[in-house]
Amino acid sequence: MNRRFDTVVIGGGIVGSSAAYYLAKAGRQVVLVEKGRINGEQSCRGLGVIGTQRRDPLEMALMLDSLDIWRGLENELGDTVGWKEQGQVSLFSNDRRRRRSEAFMAVAKQFGLTTQLLGPNEVLGLLPYPQPEGGLGALYTPADGSADQELVATAFARAAACHGAVIWENSAAHSIDIWGEVVCGVDTERGRLGCQNIVVAAGCWTSFLLKPLGIAHPSLWVRGSVGRSPVLPYDLKFAVSCDEYAYLQGPDGRLNLAAVDATVHDLMLHSRPKLLRLHQLKQKKIKLELGKPMVRSLMGDFNDFVTHRTLDPAPHFKGLKRAAAAFNADHPVIAPIQYERSWAGYMDYTPDGLPIIEAVAEPKGLYVAAGFGRNGFGIAPAVGRSISEFITMGATNRDLSPFSSQRFRHV
Ligand SMILES: Cc1cc2nc3c(=O)[nH]c(=O)nc-3n(C[C@H](O)[C@H](O)[C@H](O)COP(=O)(O)OP(=O)(O)OC[C@H]3O[C@@H](n4cnc5c(N)ncnc54)[C@H](O)[C@@H]3O)c2cc1C
Repeated sequence: MNRRFDTVVIGGGIVGSSAAYYLAKAGRQVVLVEKGRINGEQSCRGLGVIGTQRRDPLEMALMLDSLDIWRGLENELGDTVGWKEQGQVSLFSNDRRRRRSEAFMAVAKQFGLTTQLLGPNEVLGLLPYPQPEGGLGALYTPADGSADQELVATAFARAAACHGAVIWENSAAHSIDIWGEVVCGVDTERGRLGCQNIVVAAGCWTSFLLKPLGIAHPSLWVRGSVGRSPVLPYDLKFAVSCDEYAYLQGPDGRLNLAAVDATVHDLMLHSRPKLLRLHQLKQKKIKLELGKPMVRSLMGDFNDFVTHRTLDPAPHFKGLKRAAAAFNADHPVIAPIQYERSWAGYMDYTPDGLPIIEAVAEPKGLYVAAGFGRNGFGIAPAVGRSISEFITMGATNRDLSPFSSQRFRHV
């Protein structure tokens, strides 16, 4: 089947779905192709925390745009996304984290954030079920929020369809076609799609799609794990993080607990040694593991876009156990956490932890939005809108040059 569209969006996570929504709303003929199901990979697997706290200043303007979108998103899409402005607390219990938190206050001031630096007694007064000790203190940002990661990308895709976008699931894009110096189509499982613009929002798979075009996308797959408790008869109020765990309670009372110290890169055939060194230098918390994923990559499991319709890695059970033990020790009033279910997701990390969002210089008509690491859910709506502005107006009202892939040209 050969069909023509203005724009082909590759990837039905929150980034691709929001881009498709804003493009369709602007009247463009859009097709969103997803190799598995909409919202199957990273975008449905996180805690759903949306915030400014401890963000890189380079991302802040875009993140503030996104918060504005989040506040009105249910009205905009006519759908439920679970938005809640519950506030975010980052506890620190060592001097290194305290210094970083103090330094962040300058950023908070620069951008007019609601963030406050709390001492140990203020922390004890704020948290409903306080830790035995308030540690050294915390950053507290009342205006940070959250949404339900299981709902949002799908809501964007549904709303895009209402504006006329075509949504194709189980439809992998195999390759990007170029004519001279411009893009002209995408070869997909359902045939060739002719187009003037292509948005690559393929998450972990972005480097595989761009490589044949001679474009390096220096991202590393990093596995994060989450466990969910049964309903807790307590209101834990805030999104909280510390060195061992991060948590957010759902509206049904279940607690999602992420294992912060079990963020790992599974060594595979496509783990480039130079990239690993760079990541290890900058993101010291990522540990390396050698296990089944290496065997699967040696067997060619990751050589195409259809063997893994939906990446579904195994959770890091030891890390989740440690996270539960740390949470239990910190919350003696609450009965010990036993997980009801657990899951993991691969995130795509660039060496500096910032995404790549750009209109590629050549081939023309190619746009990339990927490499969002552990923070992409919150910022995604503004990214989708910016990509749409790039395509429909030739520019965005935000300076996206800090997110150009040119910063990695020597990698
Ligand atoms: C455990 C965990 C916790 C997290 N917690 C948070 C949090 O609290 N707050 C926050 O802001 N962020 C969080 N994140 C990060 C956030 O989820 C991601 O940054 C974000 O979802 C990235 O969205 P995406 O659309 O770029 O990628 P994805 O959701 O991975 O979407 C990419 C899509 O592209 C598809 N695709 C790939 N190749 C092709 C192809 N060739 N053809 C067709 N389709 C293709 C894939 O199947 C996939 O569906 C967390 C992530 C994890 C894993």
